[in-house]
Parts: sequence; C-alpha cells; structure tokens
Amino acid sequence: MEYRQFPGIDYTPSLLGFGLMRLPLNSDDTADINYELGYEMIKYALDSGINYFDTAYMYHSDQSEIFVGKVLTTFPRSDYLLADKLPVYRVESLDHAKEIFAEQLKKCNVDYFDYYLLHSLDRFTMEKADKFGLYDWLCEYKEQGLIRQLGYSFHDTPDILERYTAKHEWDFVQIQLNYLDWELQNAKRSYQYLLDHGIPVIVMEPIRGGALAKLPESASKKLLQRDKMASEASWALRYVASLPGVMTILSGMSDMAQLKDNIKTITGDYGLSRQDYELLDQVRQLYMESGRVPCTVCHYCMPCPFGVNIPESFAVYNRYVDTDDAKRFCQEYNALGEQQPKACTQCKECEEKCPQKIEISAELKKPRQFFEFTTAPCD
Ligand code: SF4
Ligand code: SF4
Repeated sequence: MEYRQFPGIDYTPSLLGFGLMRLPLNSDDTADINYELGYEMIKYALDSGINYFDTAYMYHSDQSEIFVGKVLTTFPRSDYLLADKLPVYRVESLDHAKEIFAEQLKKCNVDYFDYYLLHSLDRFTMEKADKFGLYDWLCEYKEQGLIRQLGYSFHDTPDILERYTAKHEWDFVQIQLNYLDWELQNAKRSYQYLLDHGIPVIVMEPIRGGALAKLPESASKKLLQRDKMASEASWALRYVASLPGVMTILSGMSDMAQLKDNIKTITGDYGLSRQDYELLDQVRQLYMESGRVPCTVCHYCMPCPFGVNIPESFAVYNRYVDTDDAKRFCQEYNALGEQQPKACTQCKECEEKCPQKIEISAELKKPRQFFEFTTAPCD
C-alpha cells in the first residue's frame, strides 16, 4: 500500500481510504448494515495496509458511526486513522455543534478524531459555519487533542472553494474528483488550486458513487477493448491516483470483490499513458451524451417529505439508459410503489441538499414520463 508524505501531516493515511457510507447491507434499508461482512471487510482492509476510515454523522441513516464504534474500534487504535464530519447543515448553534461532536465521539467509541471535517460545505453552509464560529471552535479542539487534522469537504463551484480555502488555514480539503467531474464540475480547477497552495487533497467519489463502474455500454466497450481484464472502477481509481497532491482516495466499498479490486489497482502499476488519457476523454464524452441523471446515490436528499425514493428512481432510470431494457425498467419502477416520482409535489426541499446540484424535481419527470409513455409489460 502506498502512503504519501505531506508536510505537517504526521499520521500518514494510506492512498486508498475506506469510505464507510456504502457498507454491505442485510436489506434495502440503509440503516441495516451487515455487521458480519462489514467486519470481514474492515479486517481485510487493515491487513492490506488501508489505515484511513471515513465516516460521517448521517451515513447509513446515522448508523455508520455506530458501526465504527462496534467494529473498527475492536482493532488497536494505532492501526487506523478515523475521519468524521460535522453535519453543518443540521447544526443550529455552536452549543449544538459541541453536542453533536460529543455524541460522535461516543458513537464511534473513541476519544479523538484523526481527521475532522466540516461536512459538505457550499456557499450557504460556509456562511452558517462562520456565523456560529465553528472554525475557531474546532481549532481549540485541535489544540486540546480532540482533533488531529482539520479540513472540510466541499460541494460547490471552484471560485467558492478558492475563497473559503484562503479564508482559514486547513490541513487538507476533500473534493469530489474523478475523470467525469474533472470537466463536468470543473474539478480540475479546484484540484489545481489546492495543489498550487500545497494543501493535501482527499478525493471523494472517485468512482462517482459507482456510476463509473457501470458505464453506458458504448463506453464500457471502449475500456474492454483496451484491457479486457481491467474493471471499469480500476480506470477511475487510476485516474485520481495518478494525480500528485492527492493524499487519500476514498472509496465506499460494499463487498469484498470491490475491496480486493481497489486494493489490486492501488498496489499495482496505476500510471496512465497518453493513450489512456485519450481513451478516458472519449469515455467521458460518451457518458455525457448518454442521458443519465448524474446522481451518485448518496441519499443526502432523503427523506423526501412526500415519500419519493429519489436515489432509487434515478438509479432505475439510469439502468434503463444503460441497458435499453424497458421491461426491467417497468418492473423496477413499479416496485417503487408509493415511492414513485409521481408523489413529487415539486416542493424542491430536496434540491438544496443535493451535492451534485441536480434539479431533482425536474429530473424526476424523466423516469415518470418514460413509465407513463412506455408500453413494455411491468410483470
Ligand atoms: S421536490 Fe419532489 S422529490 Fe424533492 S422533496 Fe419535494 S416532493 Fe420530494
Ligand atoms: S439526487 Fe443528489 S442528493 Fe439525492 S441521491 Fe442523487 S446525488 Fe445524492
């Protein structure tokens, strides 16, 4: 496993980090974590040299931190670095933030966090964070040893990142980076700014919530023609691993096969040739032309007050776009029952919570209209 050294970072994270937001489940309920398989995966990861584990208050419907407290902490504290995040969008005051922090330590069963982040900042939550004095408070906690490294995770445009990064001193910044968002969300500008300022980058969504591991058929074929043994996910990981200034790449792994494949990629020869970059440019183009909804299935928009299952509605639609299988689409859409997009009232409450800035209420019309239009059988 590779460990990249950065000035001021004494506890070196592994290049591949384990994101604890897509753990294996026993059922469709995101809170229903499969502890047995989860334990096996954590053990395998540690044995393979992964030492960076990333949780957050709301992952797995607030259950990910409890998983950390019950599983990760059965291993020696010196074997792992734990990152947790303050859900700024839920914080109502400085005292409330302090209560959440204390609760997080308790749930995770630790007495300090190696890495701590203001979670999912955008132009609005940044204002809120500063209004409540969260940065200064967390600096005090850092001095007291409750936090070792302080950063923030980010979902907005590069100019906002530049402004906020310059406003405070950060040990690291976590951004969404992958070969699609390099252009789609201009992630290259955010990355370049951090690189130019010597701020270590933690990458989230390198495989874009799994979307780059299940590409549209035309893009998939191109990658297979180049290397029929390489997984689609491995191309996405190689892209970000090849970037200097990247300290850790977080992957939310859901089964042993994904974990092993990611480890194989990161411990192998992951460098990309000029032809590889050209190939990924073509794959990006094909992806953008495919008509998929750019949802990463992160569940940040949930719950919808009117019961729409937003991520699954988009997942069902995207599967149809990828496969052209209208019958399967109808069956899966039908299975959503009361959670179908037709329950959407256009209230837009979900849209400010979406880190991908998807116009959810408008995009939900795509699966809904296709379902109403298609004549494919549903049973
Ligand atoms: S816009 Fe639709 S999907 Fe979003 S919260 Fe409102 S009802 Fe739910
Ligand atoms: S619509 Fe946005 S917030 Fe909801 S799951 Fe998709 S990417 Fe996440």
